[in-house]
Parts: sequence; C-alpha cells; structure tokens
Amino acid sequence: MSEEVGLLKSRRRVLAEAIMADRDFPPFARATRDGYAVRSADLSQEKTRLQCKGMVRAGSEFSGTVGPGECVEIMTGAPVPAGADAVVMVEYTTGQDGRIEVQRRAGPGENVVPRGSEAREGERLLAAGRRIGYGEIAMMAAVGKQAVRVYRQPRVAILPTGDEVVEVNDVPGPCQIRNSNSYSLQAQVSSAGGVPVALGIAPDREDRLREMIAKGLGADLLLLSGGVSMGKFDLVEKVLAGFEAEFFFDSVAMQPGKPLVFGRAQDTFFFGLPGNPLSTMVTFELFARPALALLSGENSAPLIFLRAKLGKEVRRKAGLTSFLPALLEGSYEEAVVQPVEWKGSGDIASLNRANCYLVLPEEVEQVAAGEWVSVLPR
Ligand code: AMP
Ligand code: MG
Repeated sequence: MSEEVGLLKSRRRVLAEAIMADRDFPPFARATRDGYAVRSADLSQEKTRLQCKGMVRAGSEFSGTVGPGECVEIMTGAPVPAGADAVVMVEYTTGQDGRIEVQRRAGPGENVVPRGSEAREGERLLAAGRRIGYGEIAMMAAVGKQAVRVYRQPRVAILPTGDEVVEVNDVPGPCQIRNSNSYSLQAQVSSAGGVPVALGIAPDREDRLREMIAKGLGADLLLLSGGVSMGKFDLVEKVLAGFEAEFFFDSVAMQPGKPLVFGRAQDTFFFGLPGNPLSTMVTFELFARPALALLSGENSAPLIFLRAKLGKEVRRKAGLTSFLPALLEGSYEEAVVQPVEWKGSGDIASLNRANCYLVLPEEVEQVAAGEWVSVLPR
C-alpha cells in the first residue's frame, strides 16, 4: 500500500514508484569551467591565438557558431556553443579586445559534460524500494517531482514484559525497575521508518501475556522484550507457541543478545528481544532494523560497518560475536576505537559513554592495539 506525499515530506520514506528522467541530463552540453569555448583541433600547439566572438553565460545560449581560429567566452553551467568541443579554463588564457592567447593544448570534450551523458530522457534514475535521503530528494527536485508515491509506514507493536517492570512515571519499589526498553524501541522504530505502537507492560503471566500478544499480532511487526531466557517465568515463547507460531530461531551466537527469538504468527513477524536493555537495543539494530526496512518496502538493507584501529589491546573468551559499547574518536585514517568499561548488558550508563559498538568475531580471543577492527555506529 502506498500514499502520495510532498517532496520534502518524503525524506526517510521508501519510494513506491520509479523516478524517470523527464529530459536529457544534462539537457545541453554543459561547460564545467569558466573560460573559453574552443575547437580542440585549433589547440594542438603550446600557444594559440584565437579571435573571441562573444560571451555565453549560464541560463542563455550563444546564437552563432565557433569557427576555426575562434572562441567564445563561457561561464560554468552555460551551454557550449555549436562548433566548439572543449572549454579551456580562463586561468590558462590571457588577452583582451577579442584577441585571446591560450597557453595550453586542449583535447576534445575537455571541461564539457555532453548532453544526455548523465542520463537519457525516459531513463530510470531511482527504482521503487529505495529509501529517500537528500540525494534522492535532489534527484526528484531535478526532474520536477513535487509529490511522490511512498510506501505506507509499517506499524510496529512494542510489548515489554516483566513483573519487575514499572512505567516511567511510576515510583519504582525497591526491587522494581523502570521500563526503558519500550522507549528505546519506540525511538529505534521511528528512526527506522516505522510507526511505534506502545502496548504497555505485560506481567509474567500467561493469560495476560496471551491477551497482549494477540493485540500485538494485529500490527505489521511485533517486538517483545524480556521473557525469552531460561527462567521459570520466561513465558514468551510458550505463549507464542499457543498462537501456532513458526519459529525461525530462538538464540543467536552473539553477546549481548543471545536469547533472541524470531518467528511469525498469524502472518505477522515477531521478535522476542532479550530484556536486558543493551541486548534489546543491539538486537534491534542488527535484526529488527533490517527486517523493518524490508517490511517498509526497501529493496535491501545491508548493515553498514566502519573500520577503525583498536586503541588498546582487548582479550576475552572466544565463542560469541561481541558487540561491545565503545568510543570511536578521530576520523578517516586516524579513527581509533576502544571499548568503554561496562558491567554487562544491563548497563545503560556504559552505552551512553560510548558512541558505537566494537565488533569482535566469534573466534577472536585477543586483538592487539593498532589492529583494524569493525565498528557498528549507533
Ligand atoms: P529477561 O530477559 O526478562 O530475563 O530480563 C533481563 C533483564 O532485563 C532483567 O534484569 C530485567 O529486569 C531487565 N528488563 C526487562 N524488561 C525491561 C524493560 N522493559 N526495561 C528495562 N529493563 C528491562
Ligand atoms: Mg523477565
């Protein structure tokens, strides 16, 4: 299903139609430099004298033709006059009163973008299924698209579970904790282009969980948090199974985030995200975000990793791919990353001393300072 929105409103939405070139791009042979439009065959010597016949500026056209021994003064963005096939930069010329000396050779096509060389009229510039960012908006503006068809945004139900979890505006008892997962997930869903629907907190009780899951399965995607580990009151999988759910997997070889569940029930995909806040956030980024992208109509949604040099040696037990909260500083070839101190996957404070995740492949036990490592930005 799709809807039409204004050009700027389409930002971060997904194209439901292809965008075509309404004419040739560029629509005329365009000068890319300020200088003189010339016949390159005239400029086979180090120095050449030419007769300047006039000027052409961006937005207008030179009515005549550039003949042998002639040139026309030209500005960036102006159409190259008939007869000319190159532009020499003004920096390589001297002269006045129509007598120009060029101190360079020039080859055909120099500083000219031929008509239609970027795209031909009718050619597809953007395919349906593409997420719209500033580049796509520039392209649509260039072809005169004021409104565009985009896919409807998926509705994502968010269902935190846990007897100990209370609402943000409640005063937690000594053994209770506030519901942060619902909020981080709502923020993540919005930033991934979905519409979050917060369902409130489900207790660790089968009957109530069943009712709330039934409600969540009415959305386009259901995200649960908590209740997917091995504890006596981890009931999420059991209750989902009661909906004749198909389970694609119920654990992943990563840390944090091991007990992640993914499946489908009543034609709705669901994720049972582990309840520890960092696990919830990381598994959303790695699994739910790409799934949401596909549900949004995006053609592909590869995760983007950066590379950086490790600031100081890391040692750990091999076995799981880790995503450790880490601080990336410096940029480009000088980017250095190191893990921040953390007390495990409940430690939201550590995540906020970090700006990325350092990724260590499962088999790695030790990485020396200065080695290149992968980083997932956050
Ligand atoms: P669980 O996956 O249900 O075993 O929960 C793992 C840990 O995450 C426990 O320490 C929970 O208290 C915590 N937790 C579960 N749900 C939430 C939530 N909505 N917000 C913050 N922490 C949570
Ligand atoms: Mg729990």
